Amino acid sequence: MFAIETKNLVKKYKDLTAVAGIDLKVQEGELFALLGTNGAGKTTTIKMLSSLIVPTAGEITILGMDIVKDRQKIREILNVSPQETAIAPNLSVKENLEFMSNVYQIPNREAKVEELVKLFHLEEVLAKKAKTLSGGWQRKVSIAIALVNEPKILFLDEPTLGLDVIARKELWTVIESLKGRITIILTTHYMEEAESLSDRIGIMAHGKLVDIGTAEELKQIAGKSTLEDAFVELATKGGAPA
Ligand code: ATP
Repeated sequence: MFAIETKNLVKKYKDLTAVAGIDLKVQEGELFALLGTNGAGKTTTIKMLSSLIVPTAGEITILGMDIVKDRQKIREILNVSPQETAIAPNLSVKENLEFMSNVYQIPNREAKVEELVKLFHLEEVLAKKAKTLSGGWQRKVSIAIALVNEPKILFLDEPTLGLDVIARKELWTVIESLKGRITIILTTHYMEEAESLSDRIGIMAHGKLVDIGTAEELKQIAGKSTLEDAFVELATKGGAPA
């Protein structure tokens, strides 16, 4: 069984086709990165896969369940860390974690909060109001919050956008520690991030998934020695959108 399977997934916004027919299979426990130019359709794809928006056409199966028929069950087993962090600015980090544990009615709330604090090394910021944290800390807390309900599938939309190189590498360590335990779909514009974290990479351009493979496979397909050059080659090979 695949964690995620899509068939001919389409999303249209009036005349604009944001996602133009995607067939994707992601294995359980896989870390799959979506790379693409601005406006390629990555966020729209993630929003459909996480049941935040309804596709115009096509099918999505999450761990064998249909995203329309089994929406409620699916929502219980996935979570999203969106581009804009999902934390309450006026609550402390601890209060944010506790609040989400309440929302999800986690049985052993204190133990869950403690586990996430340890995993993300949040001790030093626990009492601080979220709005006073640096961008790197806010991202960390945002991912920690997305793990409160122990999702089987986690969507990370540009998790390290705008972070300095040290904060980014710290977050990579956190993401790496989750690898294999849950299925992760990550969007990013950073080639190094996709290459170092992911099992496979999908390249999106103009709403289509133009190529999928490991970083090495994509370099071979494109005949390039770096992922960045391979990305440029593959993302532009179809030319301008129709
Ligand atoms: P980026 O890397 O810039 O975040 P992306 O690959 O995530 O881009 P999307 O945000 O999925 O791309 O956008 C795909 C296309 O759909 C864009 O042309 C965008 O303007 C359009 N789009 C996205 N959301 C909406 C919406 N709610 N209404 C209308 N058009 C939208």
